[in-house]
Amino acid sequence: MSYIVMARKWRPRSFESVVGQDHIVRTLKNAIHANRISHAYLFTGPRGVGKTTTARLVAKAVNCLSPEVGEPCNHCVRCEEIQGSTTTDVIEIDAASNGLVDDARELREKVRYAPVACRYKVIIIDEVHMMSNAAFNAMLKTLEEPPAHTVFILATTESHKVPATIISRCQRYDFRRIPETEITERLAVMAAAESIEINEEALHVIARGAEGSLRDAQSLFDQIISFSGNSIKTSDVVTVLGLVDTQIFIDLVEAIATQDASRALRVLDQLVNNGADLRLFMKDWVEYWRQLVIVRVVSNPQDELLHLSGQVAEMVDRQAKLFPLDELINLAKMAALTDDELRRTQHPRFLLELFLLQLCSANRVVSLETLWRELQAMEERIVTLPENVAVSGAQVNTTSTAVSEAPESIVKPVETEPTVSQAGEPALVVDTLEEVVTTGYLDTVRENWTHIIDAVGQKNRRVQALLRDVTLTGAEEGLIELACLSTYHLTGLEKDDVRKLIESVLAAELGRRTRVQLTCEAAETPTDAETQIAPEDRKKEFDEISRKEPLVKKTLEMFGGQIVDIIPKHPSGGNK
Ligand SMILES: [Zn+2]
Repeated sequence: MSYIVMARKWRPRSFESVVGQDHIVRTLKNAIHANRISHAYLFTGPRGVGKTTTARLVAKAVNCLSPEVGEPCNHCVRCEEIQGSTTTDVIEIDAASNGLVDDARELREKVRYAPVACRYKVIIIDEVHMMSNAAFNAMLKTLEEPPAHTVFILATTESHKVPATIISRCQRYDFRRIPETEITERLAVMAAAESIEINEEALHVIARGAEGSLRDAQSLFDQIISFSGNSIKTSDVVTVLGLVDTQIFIDLVEAIATQDASRALRVLDQLVNNGADLRLFMKDWVEYWRQLVIVRVVSNPQDELLHLSGQVAEMVDRQAKLFPLDELINLAKMAALTDDELRRTQHPRFLLELFLLQLCSANRVVSLETLWRELQAMEERIVTLPENVAVSGAQVNTTSTAVSEAPESIVKPVETEPTVSQAGEPALVVDTLEEVVTTGYLDTVRENWTHIIDAVGQKNRRVQALLRDVTLTGAEEGLIELACLSTYHLTGLEKDDVRKLIESVLAAELGRRTRVQLTCEAAETPTDAETQIAPEDRKKEFDEISRKEPLVKKTLEMFGGQIVDIIPKHPSGGNK
């Protein structure tokens, strides 16, 4: 079976079937139907978006013997002649391959004679900006006194190289890049007709690789079909196109959002092991950052600025919310700069590793600064709220004397889960009482919830953004329950330092230590035991930080036990 390439097989035979240029084909069709035919058209736009195809359709439509509302019939003798290139009345010249020597003379020859059989002689000149000055002059003469029987259609990817005198005599049509979604739809139709099994995600990857050119998309599709036959997986597309799986971007951004440097480095390692070209990878990743920023800034960017598939769009939307806007812009800017540096360096991998480390620690630097301000604010609060002094004071005392003691003694007072601590009591009474207390308390927390989120935002806006997406599902004295939208939110919020930060705000806002319990519909919540770090390890970490970080050291000296709730790596902390 002989194989006809997709672009040829699926070349549009009517204006209606031209993809992504509705504004142009509708105008042309109406003009032809009304017999308002210009002597010269200029079609500009990127490669592979349908300029030549539309030019051929115009040639057919103006010559068709039985046109249907501006559309060529595709059956009459004229349509068939033009379709099969058997008429001398429709001439295609490729200025790029024609050479400059004779093009002026050739052009004059072609225009001199009236059409033999057709109503119009149509001269289509591809890449017209490549013509010689002599040829442009010859054309200009013709355009100044156009013969009634001739139509020029000039196509170019670089209209700025076409003389203004020519442009001003043409009806100009700017062809646009074809949106990814429209290319995907077109590919899906082709795949169905060719009995090729391919999922939507894979089609989107092809469409994205084509960068707005349907012709490129079609030839990529051809390439992938010869690689994997009639059943195509996303991984095949990624392999053939030498692309990086979007999942890698997602994983990296998530690692940055959760400040998990070792995970980021492992993802990069996997990328290197898969033989990815790091410079190409970075170019694509910068585009991903651009998507995150745009999604964050523009309310409905899908039609104009971004052309993402449903699944990817959702993911981008979700990931964009992991950062406050100014931080996101900063990260994206750093990515773009690194892309630039990557072109020059001899050590692309190392540069990327440094970049990832920088991104993963970017937040932390900021939060230490804000931490100081927040601590001062908290000091004032302790002074002005006498009823809280008792609660906080008790903990301060315990903590400041108990740094070297076993942490259990501090954990105990917060252990307020009724089912555990009151197991010996008559169950009915406890349950009823507990229910009353719980409902009342949940309302109290709900009333304060916006304020709590704002207070978190003063310390860390990324955590604030995460909290905005979770639902407060339950609260009792000493415990609140939050339902996460996704594992992203879960991973972000269950990090020990994030949890500590939230709990410190809760303590200040609710006037008592309050533990956070996270649930997530999308995944099993890890148990407390899994997320908890051994007390000895915490202590080691604490010792190191208090030694190395002057800010923290000073803070500890000033506030003692109150820091238990804020500094992530304090030895007395646990999740309980
Ligand atoms: Zn016809």
